[in-house]
Amino acid sequence: MAFMSGDDTAILFNYDMLLKRAYLRLPKRESRAYDIPQPEVEYIGDHTLVKNLGHIADRLKRDPKIIMRYMLKGLGAPGGLREDNSLIIYKKISAKSINDIYARFLEEYVRCPTCKSYDTELIREGKKWYIRCLACGAITYVPAV
Ligand SMILES: [Zn+2]
Repeated sequence: MAFMSGDDTAILFNYDMLLKRAYLRLPKRESRAYDIPQPEVEYIGDHTLVKNLGHIADRLKRDPKIIMRYMLKGLGAPGGLREDNSLIIYKKISAKSINDIYARFLEEYVRCPTCKSYDTELIREGKKWYIRCLACGAITYVPAV
């Protein structure tokens, strides 16, 4: 009986270790989502400014023009990039609409569908566009923006 409980302890200990290791791995992957900057929206009269589009583009390793085109097309509004790579939209757009279209961009053009990492790059080969995941190596074809 004494031997049995000794074995049980050993098994429990190992199980606990595995559990701890599993927990240690989780936050690393989850934290990537927290590293993604959110749009900072301001209004200039009837115009909407996404102040930090340049910073977002840097962090996502994306061309700011692609994010601009995707957002303007999705919002159905005219606009452009300013010298500091902030995005000016010639229409009043709610912060919620900006956040929604940005979330869609992340899902379609940034996040790896295979492993859910945001650590990816967008590659253009002629008319073919694809996301290459730097975490798992998966390649996902996407429509051109
Ligand atoms: Zn991946």
